[in-house]
Amino acid sequence: MPHEVMIDLIDDPTFLMSDYDPQAGRTHSVPVALPTRSKAARAVVLKRTVLRRPVEFVRWVIAHELAHAHLRNAGRFPGDDPEHAADALAAEWGWPKPAGWGW
Ligand SMILES: [Zn+2]
Repeated sequence: MPHEVMIDLIDDPTFLMSDYDPQAGRTHSVPVALPTRSKAARAVVLKRTVLRRPVEFVRWVIAHELAHAHLRNAGRFPGDDPEHAADALAAEWGWPKPAGWGW
């Protein structure tokens, strides 16, 4: 991940990242920072069950979600699909979508 992307996320007080352990019958409160006048809050929440997946998938999904946060859930340019953009950035950063993974 490029240094400027890490700084974009780490230095942003409106960005939070957390995880949770989903359990039947329990709810989870997602921590979200307060937005500012000029910035909407950003959050990445990962289910710990992701750790049951192959490591290549785990690395890709974390990079993909951080790409969404960096892109503020938008594309890289007008008309760019946000999902495609997040996949492309994750791959650019060294974590391509694992082959054969189907949604
Ligand atoms: Zn996505």
